[in-house]
Amino acid sequence: MAEVEQNILEVLKRWWGYDSFRPGQREVIERVMEGKDTLALMPTGAGKSLIYQVPTMARLGICIVVTPLVALMKDQVDNLHRRGISAVALHGGMTYRSIDIALDNCVYGDVKFLYIAPERIGSEIFQARVRKMNVSLIAVDEAHCISQWGYDFRPSYLEINRLRRLLPEVPVLALTASATDRVAKDVMRVLEFKQGRVMRSSYARPNVSFVVRRCDDKNEQLSRVLSNVDGPSIVYVRSRERSAKVCEWLTEQGFSAQFYHAGLPHEERTLRQDEWQRGEKRVMVATNAFGMGIDKRDVRAVIHYDMCTSLEAYYQEAGRAGRDGLRSFAVLLIEGDEESYATRRVEGDFPPLELIKRVYDTICARMMIAYGEGGGIGREFNVYEFANAEHITVEQVKNSIKILAQNGYMTLSEERENSARLMFCVSREELYDYRIRRGEMEGVLLAVMRLYEGVFTEFRPIDVQEIALHSGYTVESVREELKHLWRQHIIRYVPSSYSPILTLLCDRVPKQDLYIAPDSYIHRRASAEERMEAMMNYALLEEGCRSRYIQEYFGEQEAEDCGSCDLCIARRKGVRTTSEVTPERVLEIVRTKGAISPRDLVREFRCDSSAVVRVVEQLLEEEKIYTDKGGNLKIKR
Ligand code: ADP
Ligand code: MG
Repeated sequence: MAEVEQNILEVLKRWWGYDSFRPGQREVIERVMEGKDTLALMPTGAGKSLIYQVPTMARLGICIVVTPLVALMKDQVDNLHRRGISAVALHGGMTYRSIDIALDNCVYGDVKFLYIAPERIGSEIFQARVRKMNVSLIAVDEAHCISQWGYDFRPSYLEINRLRRLLPEVPVLALTASATDRVAKDVMRVLEFKQGRVMRSSYARPNVSFVVRRCDDKNEQLSRVLSNVDGPSIVYVRSRERSAKVCEWLTEQGFSAQFYHAGLPHEERTLRQDEWQRGEKRVMVATNAFGMGIDKRDVRAVIHYDMCTSLEAYYQEAGRAGRDGLRSFAVLLIEGDEESYATRRVEGDFPPLELIKRVYDTICARMMIAYGEGGGIGREFNVYEFANAEHITVEQVKNSIKILAQNGYMTLSEERENSARLMFCVSREELYDYRIRRGEMEGVLLAVMRLYEGVFTEFRPIDVQEIALHSGYTVESVREELKHLWRQHIIRYVPSSYSPILTLLCDRVPKQDLYIAPDSYIHRRASAEERMEAMMNYALLEEGCRSRYIQEYFGEQEAEDCGSCDLCIARRKGVRTTSEVTPERVLEIVRTKGAISPRDLVREFRCDSSAVVRVVEQLLEEEKIYTDKGGNLKIKR
């Protein structure tokens, strides 16, 4: 064991320049090195990536990483490249050829990490190449997506099971920040863990004070919180419209703020995120689209303007506060009718069955698909336009499609850049006849056939420039020719776009024959209600400790009171502090020093630190003092 330990520490130092592991990392890495299937439950920011990256760098072979979002993939790959590690990602925007090359590099080259979306596993080319790779580990990031009892179930995640069967000897490491007991069991079941074990790190965040504020006016309360805390902050709101509104209000109040949601153009999003990350804007008002992949360590406050639908989501978002270990705040604002709103939210996530069926039928009709046809056909799909035309909400459309996806009827790709796609709608023989009849421009056809294997049977991403290069025509004339072939019904062609693609997974069935499995609807709805209830209970908790409540929810058995949440502080206010360490004395010291670190303050008293901490917390709570950017205590004016 000593040798292995030595080894992984060296790897950590050599590739990442870190001197030591964070709590929980070493234990998991050692298990992975022993080849045992493992489920690692570690809070956000704990450093989960390293626990599959270090073992991979410590030995021969490649690690396949399954992750749900393209954005996450790109982040990780960029990160590894910066450290001189060879990694590739396969995503939807790639042409068949570039996928081919990437996979070849995984078989014959020196690639150490292959990032894929779960949808990729089903493709033939992937399966064929994977068999030839020397795979040392399968890592499943955000593994809770596998469980339909989890808060972010993604049907495509069930495909991972196929990968497992393809590589039965390779150990699996599943990673997540949010899995209750039930979800953890489900993850291990679906992934067919052999000698599975759960490794759990604590969910305690000693430097984050969890606070719930009941108020009549959320805007007022929000600006009060933001004036009391110094430093970068995130305000989470539930909708796109709201992010703009709240941001406008904050700006009027003199805060440096901007907003962020998935509806903004990609470049704009990057720009805003960069500005905030560099500290040029202090407050980011955002929907839950903001956060994945951001790594800002000095966020002092995460304020939830609206409730989350689960404690999992709340903890993940709130957990972005205080990664640097300095005092930070996670504040939830609630008002009178929060409870009825919460119930409506769950109803919105699970539209009535009748509506789901209607959505299915209307989509098929709009795509002009006849009954008994259409399996495999993909089209651009604009959720907003559809919702508008059908007089239903965007959420209802999205959630209906999600449930339809889960039942194998259709899928909707992420909102991202899609490469152009092409498929022949004639057979090879028919195409041959056509070419003889026509003659001119056939170079384009030939190039398409050579470059994109499989275009006779399914939609393939193509690259117009690539075709131009191979055929010797200009990009413009290739486009013209493709249009012409399309008009002649030789090909089906989907131009590149930013809209998601909706694909029918099977032939259209009559509305009344649509089968929605209870597991995907009734049961999941029940567990969504349970999760909402846990969130509600957290918000309404009147005694105990917020942090302990969260820890227990995530299955920790020996959680202790944190001492710094609003409930712990309220409880303590009733108790008198020791005679030497009085609030007056602390205020006097802070005033004379101007600014003082908590550690120096404890030194001033030469006594047990907990007494000082208690008084400081109380004064922070009473807003008589505050913590500045550098973590020093100052008098609040
Ligand atoms: P998670 O996936 O658990 O949310 P990440 O893997 O994204 O967390 O890691 C969060 C940050 O912590 C990254 O910037 C990473 O480089 C850093 N980190 C991870 N492990 C260590 C370590 N042992 N020492 C120092 N920094 C670390
Ligand atoms: Mg992660």
